[in-house]
Amino acid sequence: MIKKDGNKAAGPAALAKVIDLVEMRTAQRRSTLAIFDLDGTLFDNRTRTMFILREISEKFDSALPQLSRAFSSFRDLSVVDYSLDVTLKRLKVTASAEIKFVKQEWARRFFSDEYQKYDMPLAGAKAYVEKIHAAGATVIYLTGRDVGRMLVGTTEVLRLYGFPVGVAGTMTIVKKESEQDDELFKREVSEYIDRLGEVVAVFENEPANSNILRARFPGAVSFFVETQHRPGAPRLDAGIIRIKDFRPPGRGK
Ligand SMILES: [Mg+2]
Repeated sequence: MIKKDGNKAAGPAALAKVIDLVEMRTAQRRSTLAIFDLDGTLFDNRTRTMFILREISEKFDSALPQLSRAFSSFRDLSVVDYSLDVTLKRLKVTASAEIKFVKQEWARRFFSDEYQKYDMPLAGAKAYVEKIHAAGATVIYLTGRDVGRMLVGTTEVLRLYGFPVGVAGTMTIVKKESEQDDELFKREVSEYIDRLGEVVAVFENEPANSNILRARFPGAVSFFVETQHRPGAPRLDAGIIRIKDFRPPGRGK
């Protein structure tokens, strides 16, 4: 088991090993699958939130004095938390009417096709997905985004950054209904994926999802990406490997 402060090279080494395994299986003409979550796993969403808040503050400038003021001292993305409430607090937006309005406007944009292009891929993410795809694995993007509001934007941003999408050896699985529970959705879909072939690697940033997928695919290497996740998350199960990003061993860690 790799602990939080454990061997820092273990994650990148495990990433490389997965590629070797895929190549081996492909040479044996066997099917392999790699499951990638998107939000907080392949993509950093904090840029999307900051872009949206900036847009809202510009558009509604005089109606949102606290938010507009926040941007005069905004310095870096560390201000952005998983929870928008926390982020607004850090930005010193405390007036309840302003908070309510900002949250409404933020949600309308955040969960829509148009704003996903403001996400930023994690370091090494695109190169790694490309590599595992080229090695012969079927890349499965498994995301809690929903088909009605976000499928087009999801595909667009994957293509924009050069991730393999829409081509042979890829699959994008989103929710049919936006209100569907995230964990239940991933649990159900994983039963389907289980029938498709051998899952060799799973990438997640939510401990609950990571544990569910670890239990479903015990033979796969399970990676937990240390970005942001829901507050009050369960403990990560033993044997799940923590990574900060997707860079290969020895690259600026
Ligand atoms: Mg996620």
